Amino acid sequence: MSDKKTFEYDTLLAINVRWGTFIAVVFSLLFVLIYTWGGYPHIMVIVNGVSLVLNLLVMALAFRGCTHRFLAHVITFTVYNSMMGAAVFSGGIASSSIVWLLVVPLVATLITGRRGGILWGAISVLTGIFFYLWAPILDAVALIPATNLDRAVDLLAALLTVIVAVWISETIRYKVLSQLETARAQLQHLATIDPLTQVYNRRYFSERAARVLSVPQESALLTFDIDYFKTVNDRYGHDVGDQVLQILSRRVLHNLRDGDILARFGGEEFVILLPNTSADVAFQVAERLRRAIAHQPFMVDEAQLRVTISIGITSCAGVIQNPQALGRVLQEADRAMYRAKQKGRNRVEFFSQVDEPLV
Ligand code: GH3
Ligand code: MG
Ligand code: MG
Repeated sequence: MSDKKTFEYDTLLAINVRWGTFIAVVFSLLFVLIYTWGGYPHIMVIVNGVSLVLNLLVMALAFRGCTHRFLAHVITFTVYNSMMGAAVFSGGIASSSIVWLLVVPLVATLITGRRGGILWGAISVLTGIFFYLWAPILDAVALIPATNLDRAVDLLAALLTVIVAVWISETIRYKVLSQLETARAQLQHLATIDPLTQVYNRRYFSERAARVLSVPQESALLTFDIDYFKTVNDRYGHDVGDQVLQILSRRVLHNLRDGDILARFGGEEFVILLPNTSADVAFQVAERLRRAIAHQPFMVDEAQLRVTISIGITSCAGVIQNPQALGRVLQEADRAMYRAKQKGRNRVEFFSQVDEPLV
């Protein structure tokens, strides 16, 4: 899997921190401006000024590759600091600032992770309890009566907070889910496809064949093996041998129907299941394959190679119910193939019960 596309939890948090610094800088700047021009106590400007400076510092550090966890906690602290400043020194609009503490664990979870979220959640809850136990302090400072504009700003801020939080968590969910889907597809590919030839592997073939042959129908099984393949490797090298296997697989696939199943069984040995196919038709298919390989040279690098295959066929009319029965059918096709080898190669042979009974 490529590293670029892998979004681990920590990587996602680091991305959130970068976005978080921008949002935090914008918000703290906004509050500094509002408190400066809104006639609020000076201490409010100072508290939010501290948050703004810290956020600017975090932004600079984030782009210098500083560890994101530390920065994430500093950003969470600036949010907490602004909320607490509002709660202690003004009480907020109609004492509402304490409610905004809920933003702290939300921000913390998004940028510091689950454990950070719990930590800041606990801090927020304790702070909330503290304010309610010492309500007189809060009452004493909660002097700002709410206007319609204040209520509208509060509502807008609440909406924006929810939208940003949902947007961030949905983005993460989408990325993680699509990553899982990619990983699932890759695993499926690895589990079913032969990496060199891109045809099915033995494991997948056995599964599919067992399913196809579990319903009564006349099917045919072919096995084939490249003739004198060792000589190809010896003469041209293993890489050329590999390319021959790839070209040959494509050529065989090209000569099969959609429902036919081709698999590489190992080395230069392949197997094909032809569902719903009579013995006569299977023989014609095998001959077509044999000719398609033998009559057209293989162009690999600058070399022109001639390759032939020996094919064995067996027919299965009944229902195959277990892996042993499938193994027996494969053995029959194998025996027919070895007879093709014995009889001089580059030919097709049928399994015959009379000639070679299986024990
Ligand atoms: P025969 O006609 O009797 O089948 O002769 P052969 O030389 O093909 O027979 P044998 O089975 O003894 O040799 C198979 C060779 O296939 C041996 C091995 O080097 C080669 N081979 C197996 N797998 C691969 C592969 O993935 N790539 C390449 N290049 N060669 C392979
Ligand atoms: Mg061979
Ligand atoms: Mg072989």
